This record gives sequence, structure tokens and C-alpha cells, in this order.
Amino acid sequence: MPELPEVEVTRRSFAERIRGARILGARLGKPLRWPLGLEPAHLAGRTVLEVGRRGKYLLLRLDQGVLLLHLGMSGSLSFQPGPQPPGPHDHFDLHTSHGVLRLHDPRRFGAVVWSPALDADPARRLLATLGVEPLDDGQFDPGAFHAGLKARRAPIKQVLLAGDVVVGVGNIYASEALFLAGIRPTVRASRLSRPRADRLHAAIREVLARAVQRGGSTLRDFSSATGESGHFQLEAAVYGRAGQPCVRCGAPLRQIRQGQRSTFFCPACQRP
Ligand SMILES: [Zn+2]
Repeated sequence: MPELPEVEVTRRSFAERIRGARILGARLGKPLRWPLGLEPAHLAGRTVLEVGRRGKYLLLRLDQGVLLLHLGMSGSLSFQPGPQPPGPHDHFDLHTSHGVLRLHDPRRFGAVVWSPALDADPARRLLATLGVEPLDDGQFDPGAFHAGLKARRAPIKQVLLAGDVVVGVGNIYASEALFLAGIRPTVRASRLSRPRADRLHAAIREVLARAVQRGGSTLRDFSSATGESGHFQLEAAVYGRAGQPCVRCGAPLRQIRQGQRSTFFCPACQRP
């Protein structure tokens, strides 16, 4: 599943090239998770002002309205100079004066949704429950993060995944950040002291920033809009390494299940 760093890498791979492009038309394939919300022909003539991101939504701001793109479980975007014939899993094409933005999504949990504005429905509804942006210096504040955790009694790993305290910390990155911070994934979020919350805050930023820098994880279905894949997963300290020695202390790493998801941790380095 594309996580926040992959979505950010995808954004960076085409944001500059599509900026200022005039939309010539759009093509829909099979139905995606949600309907587009307007006739594709009505996008023609609008201009792409910029490509932003909120959580795992890419926001194509147009001179009239905004397109929200979500990659779902298996989606990937490409931005190619000329039109190519669509394959069976290409379910959205945005033809512009600068090239064709295409959503390839075999499982069709992704979506492209039009909204008249970011503060109007459906954008408002889709973005309403998202926590703060971890990669935004102004938004992701250690004190507010600690206060958010204080209010939650669930295990810290599951609170991170829920996305309403801080958005976009997916399964791989939650395991890695908790390892870096030396925190057992099963600790109740409300029990974390301010110093431990501060360490976790720093670890989340470090893990996500490093992943963006490396180009996102090498996930099966992910490729950035230029077709390059990333290398972060090769660098994982705990994720996918059950039974192997901890890179810090040599103890065998453990794997448990939390809310149907796999969690990896070092029983020696990560305190309960
Ligand atoms: Zn260890």
C-alpha cells in the first residue's frame, strides 16, 4: 500500500511538470472507490495551478475547483508526455497541454474526486478527520503531539496508524519510528511521558523524511510518476526482520499482530 512518503515522492515527481498545464480532457475507466463527481468533459479548459498533498491525498488545485487523488491499496500515477493507449488497469487519464496524468490501479481502491473547493464537500468531508502533517514543521509540534497521545488509551502503534493524532504514519514507518525511539509498540499512548513522546516525535520525522529522500519504499505495486522505485525498505531496522538480530543489541527481533497488522520490535531496546 502506498504510504505517505510514496505519495509525497509521487507528488514531487510530476508537480513541477504539470504546473500551469491546461486540461484538454479526461478519460474514466472502470469505477474507482468513489465517483469523480462531475462530467469528465467539464474539466476541459481548466488550468492546473499546483499539486499539493494532505495526508495521502494529492490535491490538484485548478483555477476552478480541486481534484483529490488517492492511490488506495495498489494505485500508481504516471505523467507521460504523450497519450499511450490505456491498459486494462488504467482507470483515469487527465489529458493536459503538458502531458497525460494516468492512474493505474489494479484493485481500484484508489479514487479521483472533484470538489468545488478544499473547504467545501466532498473535500471537506474526506480531509476532516486527518491529523497534523508530520513533515510540516509548523504543524507537527511536540507539545501538541504529547497532548494528543495523552487522550488515547490504545497501544501507541495503533494510535499512530489511526491517523487522527498525526496523519500518514503507516505500518512500516510506525514500527521503524518506535524502534528508533526505543518504545515498545504495545505501550498505551496515554502512558508515554513527555521525554518519550518527544523522542517519538523526532523519530517519526526522521523516518518519514529519510523515506521521502530515498524515494519511498520499494513496494510491489508502487512506482513514482516517472517509473522509478525507491529503496527505503532495504534500510528497515525492524520491519520484516522477525527472528533476525537487532542492529543495535543483537537480540532476536519479534513479530506480533496488532489490529490485524504485523508489528516488529526489539524486546531488549524497546521498553514497555
Ligand atoms: Zn535491540
